[in-house]
Amino acid sequence: MAGGWSSDGAVQDQIDATIDDAVARARSALPRGQSLANCEACNAEIPAARRAIMPGVRLCVRCQSALDKKTVSHSGYNRRGSKDSQLR
Ligand SMILES: [Zn+2]
Repeated sequence: MAGGWSSDGAVQDQIDATIDDAVARARSALPRGQSLANCEACNAEIPAARRAIMPGVRLCVRCQSALDKKTVSHSGYNRRGSKDSQLR
């Protein structure tokens, strides 16, 4: 009976730390500041419409989607990996 509280608290602390970490990482990935007229990576022109809907955009569509793909597949792999190891 004793110890039920402390183990629950430890698990909750772990979850909170994970969420804080994810939020901090997501925030740091958000574009900030002024939009660029030309892509930061390949120097292609960024259309005004894209700049209007994405304030602070720094990459052209092609570079952004390449970056998104890399980011999604990377975090998706990590998430699936940890879930698998918990289930097995
Ligand atoms: Zn580009």
